[in-house]
Amino acid sequence: MGVFGGGVTVNWTFVGASTIAGQYLASAIRATGNCEVRWIVSGSADRAASFAKTHGITKSGGDLSAALADPAVSAVYISSTNEKHHAQALAAFAAGKHVLCEKPLATNIADAQDMVAAAERAGVVFATNHHLRSAGSLRAIRQLIADGKVGKVLSLRIFHAVELPVHLRGWRLDNPAAGGGVIADLTVHNADTARFLLDEDPVSVVAHMDATGLGQGVEDSAMSVWAMPSGAMVFSHESFTHPYASSGIEVHGTKGSILARGVLSQEPAGEIELITAQGTTRVDYDHSALYENVVRNFCAAVAGLALPTAAGRDGVKSLQIAFAVRDAARSGRRQTVNYGESL
Ligand code: NDP
Repeated sequence: MGVFGGGVTVNWTFVGASTIAGQYLASAIRATGNCEVRWIVSGSADRAASFAKTHGITKSGGDLSAALADPAVSAVYISSTNEKHHAQALAAFAAGKHVLCEKPLATNIADAQDMVAAAERAGVVFATNHHLRSAGSLRAIRQLIADGKVGKVLSLRIFHAVELPVHLRGWRLDNPAAGGGVIADLTVHNADTARFLLDEDPVSVVAHMDATGLGQGVEDSAMSVWAMPSGAMVFSHESFTHPYASSGIEVHGTKGSILARGVLSQEPAGEIELITAQGTTRVDYDHSALYENVVRNFCAAVAGLALPTAAGRDGVKSLQIAFAVRDAARSGRRQTVNYGESL
């Protein structure tokens, strides 16, 4: 580990030759300066070799333990399918590596909590890739709320109904064991977004879910309403089947409203308006790249200079909320969100 800019260089092993790793994380790590992806590990050595060639990674293979034995690697980025995250993270922690893990952290809450406990025992950084916290747009909305621009928050509406791109129409749509379904995929993001914006955790939820065209054995759409401790209501909508809905966030308070469109994105995109008695104002925000921000923060956390963008505990909480939504939809009854005693 050496120094980059005002921060730290971290050499990485990638676990999972995934779309997200290839589209965003490889370049995000390269963009931070001195950071290097040294290894790509996949369930298929051929897929790893092909990924390595495409992204200029020197070492590849199917054996995670070989990559974890490399002393030059201090961090592991896990972006395999969800049912593999737990075992791969535990192996990384046992090798003393810091871990940035994709959401959802696991396919059940006990595994996710186990990951947090193992990271604490190992004394390493454990972060969840809830990248939306690093979006300038969401940070601007959070600041407006914190500055009292909308007064007391009465309601938050989060629209995350999109069309799942054709190239991603695999395990998300037909494999519950791999963590398929829109609730594990997108409700966790909405849960983290609500927690980030409002600084509080839902107490209970009511919900409905269905397969509306793409899901086979898993839900592809969900709507839920969450009760917050402050009395605010949160409405959360996720779908894989909405080609023209666009994403959005609305915050409504006693003194104003914030309307944001197109902000739940992997890109620094979208528009924000603040509406008060004084009129409507367009809100400017920082357009830096989301995943680069996540990586820079993670490296600073490894150096003890900052907290990760979202911690492992945040990934546990987003999963607890998402699974409460799923349980409420299954039972047709209000579901209390059970955060357990350990967090
Ligand atoms: P992909 O479907 O692209 O990849 C998941 C796994 O599928 C890979 O790790 C790979 O396994 C396997 N795989 C990839 N290509 C092939 C192929 N051609 N044939 C057979 N198997 C293949 O997943 P995503 O990139 O969409 O998602 C990966 C993780 O990242 C998930 O946990 C997801 O929830 C998360 N994610 C997070 C986002 C965020 O913004 N935070 C955005 C998108 C995804 P192997 O590891 O064995 O090579």
